[in-house]
Amino acid sequence: MKIVNRIDELRTMLTEEKTEGKTVGFVPTMGYLHEGHLSLIHAARKENEVVVISIFVNPLQFGPGEDFDQYPRDIEHDEALAREAGVDYLFYPTVAEMYGERPTVTVKVHERTDCLCGKSRPGHFDGVATVLTKLFNIVAPTRAYFGLKDAQQVAVVEGLIRDFNFPIELVGVDIKREEDGLALSSRNVNLTPEERTEAVHISKSLRLIREAIENGSTPAAALAEGIGYLQGHITGSIDYLEALSYPELKSITDVRETIIVAAAVQYSKVRLIDNVIIKNEQPRG
Ligand code: AMP
Repeated sequence: MKIVNRIDELRTMLTEEKTEGKTVGFVPTMGYLHEGHLSLIHAARKENEVVVISIFVNPLQFGPGEDFDQYPRDIEHDEALAREAGVDYLFYPTVAEMYGERPTVTVKVHERTDCLCGKSRPGHFDGVATVLTKLFNIVAPTRAYFGLKDAQQVAVVEGLIRDFNFPIELVGVDIKREEDGLALSSRNVNLTPEERTEAVHISKSLRLIREAIENGSTPAAALAEGIGYLQGHITGSIDYLEALSYPELKSITDVRETIIVAAAVQYSKVRLIDNVIIKNEQPRG
């Protein structure tokens, strides 16, 4: 595995690989790797001849007062995990390498951001779209892998790839969970032991809502039940618990469409997110 800090260096190396006709799978991350990231890397490894991951805690996607400084970092551990997972190139740039003194052009996302995390984190998805535009241009992958843990991000990236004509196949990968159901996240280490114990109820409430909808409840009734359950079981504050169409992220007008039920909970130092997607197999019309 090659560790590369410079944009031009990575470009040169990958251009060489591509002239040999090799496919490139790309996994963008903010590091502090866990099994969730590894499932993306394994998927990329299976489907591509070259696997590139990036580790970059992108300041542009953190708002004022968010956890940019407290975001966990451990590059040595990440290097070992990436090497073991069969990564070929680990791109690990500095903020100065990515943005110079400050960016002069950024990307603005217009759809799918007025709800869920977009509502409580203004500018977050603009920061995500800006860094991904740069990373897509630098790596120019055949396929890019994103976790459905950040399902709104996947919906935004789908729009970015389509609108900016990136010749990249987007691959969404299922959520990896702890045994008790908590979605894996680099941020979980910043939970207190009490918060970690009760955080299991986030995924439980989502499962409860999914089961209610699958058993014929309306999304509104199922949500009300889920919100009641969550309020009764956690001390963190519920930022949102919503059901929307997916990937459009609009109000549900037809119960036969694919639905996302998503939650965000704010704890003392960490904001946790999770979701379930309910695919409707019934024929429409
Ligand atoms: P992050 O480092 O948190 O920015 O995540 C990098 C990528 O890993 C994103 O596409 C995430 O959606 C994905 N990811 C993070 N946690 C999980 C998880 N528990 N299961 C699947 N994918 C994940």
